[in-house]
Amino acid sequence: MKTLRIHNTLGNNLEEFKPIDPLNVRVYACGPTVYYYAHIGNARMAVVNDLLIRFLKTLYPKVTYVSNITDIDDKIIAASQKNKIPIKELTEKYTKIYNEDMSVLGVKQPDIQPKATDYIKEMINLIEKLIENNFAYEKDGHVLFHVPSFKNYGMLSGRNRDEQITGSRVEVAPYKKDPTDFVLWKPSPSPLPGWESPWGLGRPGWHLECSAMSEKTLGLPFDIHSGGADLIFPHHENEIAQTCAAHKNNDDLKSFAKYWFHNGFVNVEGEKMSKSIGNIKLVHDLVKEYKGEVLRLTLLSAHYRQPLNWTRDIIKQNSTMLDRFYRTLKDLEKVDAYAEKNEIEERIINGLYDDLNTPKVIAELNMLTNGINNADVKTKQKIKFNLLEIGKIFGILQKNPDTWLGYGQSKNINQDTIERLIKDRNEARRNKNFDTADEIRKKLKKEGVEIEDTSEGTIWRSI
Ligand SMILES: [Zn+2]
Repeated sequence: MKTLRIHNTLGNNLEEFKPIDPLNVRVYACGPTVYYYAHIGNARMAVVNDLLIRFLKTLYPKVTYVSNITDIDDKIIAASQKNKIPIKELTEKYTKIYNEDMSVLGVKQPDIQPKATDYIKEMINLIEKLIENNFAYEKDGHVLFHVPSFKNYGMLSGRNRDEQITGSRVEVAPYKKDPTDFVLWKPSPSPLPGWESPWGLGRPGWHLECSAMSEKTLGLPFDIHSGGADLIFPHHENEIAQTCAAHKNNDDLKSFAKYWFHNGFVNVEGEKMSKSIGNIKLVHDLVKEYKGEVLRLTLLSAHYRQPLNWTRDIIKQNSTMLDRFYRTLKDLEKVDAYAEKNEIEERIINGLYDDLNTPKVIAELNMLTNGINNADVKTKQKIKFNLLEIGKIFGILQKNPDTWLGYGQSKNINQDTIERLIKDRNEARRNKNFDTADEIRKKLKKEGVEIEDTSEGTIWRSI
């Protein structure tokens, strides 16, 4: 049996994936903080994880995928105050938009999408355990995780103590024993949102949420913890410290999650996305301009660990490629891909087993479809089978090729008129009146309709 190998950030190695329970593979991904529209970097995380889940589902009978919603946070509070919208209304609005936008990109909803505010009780329990185990302390209404007490801190990111201090990037608050200590709980007096706790009215620190939600929804340990590479430090480092310390497993970091899976950044036209440059690409805008599958394939066009340079050109290239794949499916319309028992070709599927090497799979698919013209029926069946089956894992190529390519649909001119003009043109051709025939063709093209003469008559599509 082929084995899936994935890069594990914990240990920085390519490792064979061995599930804890092969009957139920469990994956947790850090989801969005919902105070605004998701950008293309958020979408990359969602799409890459969706691919991982789809592939795991072809290998194991059950996969449980949890991805959370952060619905309490300083940025949310600020956005709620600025827009004068209650927090709940704001977070519900952007959760809905996030899910709708991701669904346009073919991202299936996680099996569980926990909201942080539903897990306050679990978070308080975790903090109590951490205090009891001497990894956390209370000071001035704050509870802090004492980083020097956890000697394996830094193992995930590979940062040493000096880098951790620089990386924490916050001025050292007077209630901290050590500059690297991080907040588990902080005071949140009215009118700020707060919950009753043994340390007074307050709210949780962001890192704590994921420790509480992943444990509650998946149990410990689970298989894969994933997220964007920007979360490795400090967010994921802190999650490991909290969960392992709460269960006194400080020497066994894999007692939380076995594999840490991180996707790379998205740059825009060669530059880092940032507010100051004003180049942040929002999914909500992109889906109005491009088809979801085009955006999805573009996001999968680079290896998930590599940075992805988001440009108009790369979107165009992937759009053209999808059109070509759909054109192949259209050409193979009458071929039954499932007439015989087929398997995805080794050289194509091997790319996925090799740390989800999507560019390699895409290159192989291109080579496969290049050979269609002189192929016999059996080869055609195989080509179509491979396109459809890889398409299922990639979340592409499942639409009707006619619909994708625009056959039988027109935006500017009604269908009866098109059919009548085609009839007139064919009549003109029969009468060798080629000028008229040509004029009709041009007229239709002007209206965004292209006609094609096939052995079975004239067909048309919108362009
Ligand atoms: Zn998280």
